[in-house]
Amino acid sequence: MANQPVEIGGQRILPGETKQIKLEMPPLYTSTNMSIPVYVKCGKRAGPTLFVSAAIHGDELNGIEIVGRLIHAKAIEKLRGTLIAVPMVNVYGVLNQSRYLPDRRDLNRSFPGSRKGSLAGRLANLFFKEIVTKCDFGIDLHTGAIHRSNLPQIRADLDDEDVLEMAKAFGVPVLLNADLRDGSLRQAASEAGVKILLYEAGQALRYDEFSIRAGVRGIINTMRHVGMLNKSRAKGHDIQRFIARESGWVRAPESGFVRHLAQLGDHVEKGDRLATISDPFGEILATMYSPMHGVIVGKQNIPLAQEGEAIYHIGYFNKPDSVAEHVELLQDNLVPDEPGLPGP
Ligand SMILES: [Zn+2]
Repeated sequence: MANQPVEIGGQRILPGETKQIKLEMPPLYTSTNMSIPVYVKCGKRAGPTLFVSAAIHGDELNGIEIVGRLIHAKAIEKLRGTLIAVPMVNVYGVLNQSRYLPDRRDLNRSFPGSRKGSLAGRLANLFFKEIVTKCDFGIDLHTGAIHRSNLPQIRADLDDEDVLEMAKAFGVPVLLNADLRDGSLRQAASEAGVKILLYEAGQALRYDEFSIRAGVRGIINTMRHVGMLNKSRAKGHDIQRFIARESGWVRAPESGFVRHLAQLGDHVEKGDRLATISDPFGEILATMYSPMHGVIVGKQNIPLAQEGEAIYHIGYFNKPDSVAEHVELLQDNLVPDEPGLPGP
C-alpha cells in the first residue's frame, strides 16, 4: 500500500520525498527570524508516522547529535511510513545554552500550549499542532541537568502495554515507569493518543558517545518494532531489560567537597559507601551510603555539594547486579575499545 503525503508548516511532502522544513516561530526582538528545523522523510510504502524530538530543554544537546546521525543512517533508507525528526524544538534555549525559554518558562511544562498564550505556550502549540498530532508514535530525547549525568534509560508509562513493548524494543537495560507530569509533552501527547517514549541519557551541554550511540540504535530498534523498518537479521544482542520498581535520590548530608566512590551504572548494596564529603582541609565531614540495593542511574559530577543537594539517583531493581552487567554489555557492544572509530 502507498503512503499518504504529510503536510507540515504549509508544505506538502509526498511519498518518496525527503525534505528539510523551517517551521516559523516568533522572531527575536532583534528582528531576527526564528524557525524550528524539521526533517521529514515520507516513505513510499504505508506505515506509521513517528516523530523524534530533541532539545525541548535547550541545553540538552545529546539528542541533536542523535537526530543528526539517525537521518544519515543507512538503516532508515527503506522506510515504511513517515519519520519526522526535529533536532531542536527549543531553538531559543539552544541559542542561549539554557534549559528554558527567554520568558524563563520550561517548554516541557507548557504543552499542549495555545496560539494566544505565553511564548512557551505558543511554541508548544506550534510543535504540538504541526508535528505531534500527526504522529502515531514519538521519541523525545533528553539528558540530565548541568553537571548531572544519566545512565541511558527509557522513561515511559509502562502500564500501557504498547508503550511497554516499545520501551523494551528500544533496547537499553534500564526502564523507569515515570508518572506523567503536568504540561509535559508526554502527557499532552498521550492524551492525544500518541504513544511516547522519553530517552534520558548523558548530561546537559555535553556530548556523550555511549548515550548517543545507544540512542541512535534505540530509535532504529523502535522503528523496526513498530513496522517502519524490516526486522534486523543480525543476531539479536543479548541485552535484557529491567524495570525499576522505584527510584530515589541520595542527598548530601553536609556541605562540602565530594569524593565519588560509586559511578554511573554501578550496582550498589544497601549500606555501600557512595561518596565522602570533606571540608576544604580534606577532613571528612560525612560519608554517604546507599539506602537500598540498586543501580546508580543518575549522578552529580561536580564535586561541590550543598547540604540537601541530590548527589545520586538510584534505581531499585529486583536484580540490580544483572542490570549493571547488562549496562556493561551494552557499553561493550556500542563503544569498542579501539580509538578513532567513526560513529554509526
Ligand atoms: Zn530534559
